[in-house]
Amino acid sequence: MTHRYSDQRIPGNRLLHSPGPTHVPEAVQNALRRQPMDLGDPRLDETIAACEAGLKRLLGTREADVFLYAANGHGAWEATIANLLDTDQKVLIAGTGHFSESWAIQAEAMGVEVLRTPYVEGYTIDMASVEAVLRADTGHEIVAVFVVHTDTASGTTNELAGFRRMLDELAHPALYVVDVVATLGAVAFDMEALGANVVVGASQKALMCPPGLGFCAVDAKAFALSERNPAPRFYWDWRKRKSEMSYRKFCGTPPQSMLFGLEAALGLIFLEGVEAVLARHRTLANATQAAVAAWSEGGAMQFLCKIPEARSVSVTSVLVSPGINPDELRHIAREQFQVAIAGGLGPFAGRMFRIGHLGDLNPAMLLGCLAGVEGALTVMGIPIGREGLHRAIQVLARAATPSG
Ligand SMILES: *Cc1c(COP(=O)(O)O)cnc(C)c1O
Repeated sequence: MTHRYSDQRIPGNRLLHSPGPTHVPEAVQNALRRQPMDLGDPRLDETIAACEAGLKRLLGTREADVFLYAANGHGAWEATIANLLDTDQKVLIAGTGHFSESWAIQAEAMGVEVLRTPYVEGYTIDMASVEAVLRADTGHEIVAVFVVHTDTASGTTNELAGFRRMLDELAHPALYVVDVVATLGAVAFDMEALGANVVVGASQKALMCPPGLGFCAVDAKAFALSERNPAPRFYWDWRKRKSEMSYRKFCGTPPQSMLFGLEAALGLIFLEGVEAVLARHRTLANATQAAVAAWSEGGAMQFLCKIPEARSVSVTSVLVSPGINPDELRHIAREQFQVAIAGGLGPFAGRMFRIGHLGDLNPAMLLGCLAGVEGALTVMGIPIGREGLHRAIQVLARAATPSG
C-alpha cells in the first residue's frame, strides 16, 4: 500500500488515536462501500429505522425522536440552536472550556444572546454559577441550558445529574440540552433518567464511523417549543424531518453510505454489549492515564484535568512544559512511529497533546499508541518516568484477570 498523498510507503497500519475521527472497524468500512439505493428501496427504510432505534437505545430514550443530518457535530449544534432559539432570545451555556465556548460563539453568530458561566480549563462546570444565573432569571427568559458532557479539549467530563434537579427545584422552564459528541458509546448515558430534552451527537468518535453524520434526539417538550419558534430555518427544521418518508426525513437524499456505516457500527456495539463496551473504554482510559502519570514523573508534562475522577474516558489531554513543542512530538509520533495523536485547541494550541482512546480499540492498539508516543518523547529527549508502558500493562492485565 502506498500513502495516498505521497510516494512514501507506510509499512503496516497507522494507529489513529485522535479523539475523533477514530479508527473505523472493517465491518463498518464494508458497509460504507455498499452501492447506493433508489429512494424507494425498502432496505433503505430498514437501515434508517435501525439507525434511529439503535441510537435511541444507546441514548436511553424510547420517547424522543432522532433527527439525523448529513453534517458534523457543528451541524447538529446549529440544528439545536436554529430550532430552539429565535434571534435575541437567551441561552445559558455552562462553561466547560474550548467546546462550550465554540458552541457559544456559534449561537451568537446566529443572533442568539448567550449567557456564560466562567470556567477554568481542566476543571468541571461551576454549578454554583449556573444556579446563580438561573435564579437571577426570574422572568424565565433563558430558553435552554446547553451542557457539554466531555470537553474534548481539556479531557474533562462533567456530572450531568445536577441540571434537571436544579431546573426543577427552581421551577425554571428552560430546556436541558446535552452534547454527547465525545461520550456516546464510551460513557453510560440515559437521556430519560437525566431528564434531558435534547441530546446532540456525531458519528466519528465512539460511534466508530467516519465524520459526516450529526444527530439531535428531541423529546416532546423540546419539539413543542421548536414548533412555536418562528426563527427562519429550513434544512435544520425538526418539523420538516418528522415524517415516515425517508426522503423527507433528510430534507432530500439521505446520506446513505453513512447510514449503512452507522447501522453496522451500532450492530457492533450491541453485539459486544453496551456494558462491555463501556467497561473496555474505562480500562483503556485507566491504562492511558497510568502511563501519562508515569511519564509526568520526569517533570516535563502534567494532566490538564486536575480532578482525577473527572478525567475523560474518551481522551487524555497532556500539558507540556515551556520549551517543548507538542506539534513536533505529534509529527515524530505520526511519521516515525505511525501513531496519530491530537494537539491542543484554543488557548492550548502548541502547549499540549491529546491521546484519544475511544471507539474501536483493543489493548494491543492502545499499547502500540502509548509505545509510539513514548518513542517520540524519547527521540525528542524529553525527560519522562520510564514506567509508563509497564503501568499501562498492569492496568490491562488486572482487567484481563478473572476476578477471584
Ligand atoms: C468533536 C466535538 C464536537 C464537534 O464535532 P465536529 O464533528 O468536529 O463538528 C462538539 N462537541 C464535542 C464535545 C466534541 O468532542
